[in-house]
Amino acid sequence: MAESKQVTTPAARIGVLSVQGGFAEHVAMLEQLGADVIAVRRAEHLEGLDGLVIPGGESTTISRLLVLSNMVEPIQQAIAEGLPTFGTCAGLIMLADEVLDTRPDAQSFHSLDISVRRNAFGRQVDSFETQLDFIGIDSPVHAVFIRAPKVVEVGSGVHTLATVPDGTVVAVREGNVLGCSFHPELTDDTRVHEYFLDIVRENQRTY
Ligand code: GLN
Repeated sequence: MAESKQVTTPAARIGVLSVQGGFAEHVAMLEQLGADVIAVRRAEHLEGLDGLVIPGGESTTISRLLVLSNMVEPIQQAIAEGLPTFGTCAGLIMLADEVLDTRPDAQSFHSLDISVRRNAFGRQVDSFETQLDFIGIDSPVHAVFIRAPKVVEVGSGVHTLATVPDGTVVAVREGNVLGCSFHPELTDDTRVHEYFLDIVRENQRTY
């Protein structure tokens, strides 16, 4: 009788950029989903990762801290080389090719061919919660927006995954890079993180 082939998938090794902002909630959610989570605080922590998460927080502060620790270029390069990466809110801003309404010295990784405008939902609704259809997830996700950016331009290779009712783009994917304006890590709904871990698994399979 033929031996059954044993296929074991090792836990995905996911780095969470942990220099500022809401990294702890991402760590908790990814651990709940069985990932092996690494706090990324120095460039050498990028080694051997299967995926990277860039949390929300304050993008100009994250940028400043990454410049001080010489991490902008190594992260940008790792993503350009194909490292699956997921950014939420300030993390989406960090991934964008163009950032509007930011400090002139703020850096971003230019990993997503989009233009984002910081704090663009306006003062009255600068924080709100809603249910959103998300392409690839079979029922609406609960989305928490906190002084969130709007995606104001989307390049031709970028897929829009979610919009708010006025048509504003709030979640995108380009290849292995996923970003959303809102905070799935602040809800009990793990499906956006699962969507990201699927990208990671697909990518692991190609090696
Ligand atoms: N307004 C913040 C910024 O521009 C993002 C807010 C967030 O991550 N919740 O970086």
